[in-house]
Amino acid sequence: MSAEAESYAFSADINQLLSLIINTFYSNKEIFLRELISNASDALDKIRYQSLTDSSVLDAEPELQIKLIPDKANNTLTIEDTGIGMTKADLVNNLGTIAKSGTKAFMEALSAGADISMIGQFGVGFYSAYLVADRVEVVSKNNDDECYIWSSEAGGSFTVTKCEDSGIGRGTRLILHMKEDMSEYLEEKRITDLVKKHSEFIGFPIKLYTEKTEEKEVTDDEDEEEEGDDDKPKVEEVDDEEDAKKEKKTKKIKEVTHDWKHLNNMKPIWMRKPDDVTHDEYVSFYKSISNDWEEHAAVKHFSVEGQLEFKAILFAPKRAPFDMFEGGAKKKWNHIKLYVRRVFIMDNCEELMPEWLQFVKGVVDSEDLPLNISRETLQQNKILRVIKKNLVKKCIEMFTDLTENEDSYKKFYEAFSKNLKLGIHEDSTNRAKIAKLLRYYSTKSGDEMTSLDDYVSRMDDKQPGIYYITGESKRAVETSPFLERLKKKGYEVIFMTDPIDEYAVQQLKEYEGKKLLSATKEGLEIADDEDEKKAFEEAKAKCEGLCKLMKEVLDDKVEKVVISSRLADSPCVLVTGEYGWSANMERIMKAQALRDASQSAYMTSKKTMEINPQNAIIVALRDKAEADQSDKTVKDLIWLLYDTSLLTSGFSLDEPSTFASRIHRLVKLGLSIDDADDDDDAELDDMPAAVEDDDNDESAMEQVD
Ligand code: ADP
Repeated sequence: MSAEAESYAFSADINQLLSLIINTFYSNKEIFLRELISNASDALDKIRYQSLTDSSVLDAEPELQIKLIPDKANNTLTIEDTGIGMTKADLVNNLGTIAKSGTKAFMEALSAGADISMIGQFGVGFYSAYLVADRVEVVSKNNDDECYIWSSEAGGSFTVTKCEDSGIGRGTRLILHMKEDMSEYLEEKRITDLVKKHSEFIGFPIKLYTEKTEEKEVTDDEDEEEEGDDDKPKVEEVDDEEDAKKEKKTKKIKEVTHDWKHLNNMKPIWMRKPDDVTHDEYVSFYKSISNDWEEHAAVKHFSVEGQLEFKAILFAPKRAPFDMFEGGAKKKWNHIKLYVRRVFIMDNCEELMPEWLQFVKGVVDSEDLPLNISRETLQQNKILRVIKKNLVKKCIEMFTDLTENEDSYKKFYEAFSKNLKLGIHEDSTNRAKIAKLLRYYSTKSGDEMTSLDDYVSRMDDKQPGIYYITGESKRAVETSPFLERLKKKGYEVIFMTDPIDEYAVQQLKEYEGKKLLSATKEGLEIADDEDEKKAFEEAKAKCEGLCKLMKEVLDDKVEKVVISSRLADSPCVLVTGEYGWSANMERIMKAQALRDASQSAYMTSKKTMEINPQNAIIVALRDKAEADQSDKTVKDLIWLLYDTSLLTSGFSLDEPSTFASRIHRLVKLGLSIDDADDDDDAELDDMPAAVEDDDNDESAMEQVD
């Protein structure tokens, strides 16, 4: 042990995390053991996986296990695994210098009221050692390097030293020098209970070093021999010996014996019958594979037999993980652990779950896959594809079961509705089933969301389909002019206010044979009886001239101008093509900075202006236009109607200042301000003159385009 210690500074984030862990008053310190055992188990999984293709990696230490060694004399707790171990570089990088995204996220979560026991979810579980220890040593031996000791009392730095005589063939020995008042974690009973509670389902033996002190009565002279003979039955001689013993002198001695007590029951829970597994056992298993501190929202435990055999347990968590839609190359794809005939193969097997189900956690144990399967061969694997199909089916069943309890489903939906909608978008096979799980607010839903099934049950026979409107918020769509006639007719309209709804609804198209009809797009048929149709045709004939004029004025701003059947009160709206972007989609796409500009030119909403022939403004405008086709006021008003329609239809204004100028002129009109009179008012002077008063306004208007 003559090697010199090299000193390293913790990264700033980790340093901050450590002082939080050390200085925060927190009573639930026991979770450190779960975290450290979980790290040990991960390390064992890694070496076992390597050994599937190269068994020699186990040569240095064939047995795979975790040992816990409490030492009251030295006030230490040692956690030792024969896992993959860490090289010197691993020790430096993994335990202190490279901060993960979870480090900051965890601290933010803590200041927002999260609990320290959530540490494992953020991938910084190792540091929980400092809840109970003031100094930690990590002695580690990886097959590719010598043995090194990492050591730190926190306080900004750690050292790494080469270690000559650790006696470790491979793996990691964590020595926790316990804080003064933490001796409870050296008690056999406490450790045993903790392992039962948090680490019962670790797939490797966890062995506790126990000490037993027994008082023994031994004969003065022959104790050694006696001990050696203890176990051997000597039936015939018993009587004689008893007699002989009594005559000898005896004394009491304390005998200390050590033993390894196996703490966990390793029969994998998924191999048991679902009926034999208790709720608490599922909870405990869920927590052990998920790092979650809360129990699951739902579980599905099943086996598939026949051509292909596997067992699986799937869990839906209660909350979405902190980084669910963050993306990035390093992101975990999913949380399904793949086993082959009880041997852990890998986490995060991309071929097992589609993206939309990446929040589901669980295990799959296949009887058919080869043990030495690699990530590369997995991609082509047919068995895996069939497993995946089954898992998706079972997940949907699990969510459907959840809908039976309204409260639980509501919470689930709040957390994972985006995933379901992504599922609608991506999974054409299961689209119809996933659609059953959707919930929306609607014009008739009140404070609770409604399912599409409930919507359909409220539909009357004449209603041509399921109406929906997309937009930025519930408030924005609730009062939209697009809903006027639909509401009057009593047709329910679904509010889709999540950006992902735009994508989902493009794929969904219909539900239970009923078409989904956008309230904001072209081709909306509302008039459903003869009288209405006749009235519509009449209005159309009357307004033909006005429509033509409006199109001339607005030119290429709109595709066409037509009579609307969807308006009741408002004068006009702008609808978009059935297959193009809606106003809401345009808004969403504009918000995405790095979008391909060519696509937007192609997809940008082609707008059709729809006018309401019953509206007083339109009627008056028509009369005015009929009286004088070249009336400048008419042109100006048409532009104002266009701009206000942009706003009420959910678009943004191309030229807000031109719009403002027009409004200001109207305001002046309202206030009877004559531009000629206020030459001294510089601000007002800058504005285009009000229509009626100024001959120059024509040119001012033409600028708009
Ligand atoms: P996480 O385990 O979630 O990645 P931790 O902070 O608990 O985060 O551990 C950091 C890293 O240190 C691990 O990813 C692993 O590479 C390494 N590590 C921790 N404990 C062990 C161990 N017992 N054996 C081998 N490597 C370990």
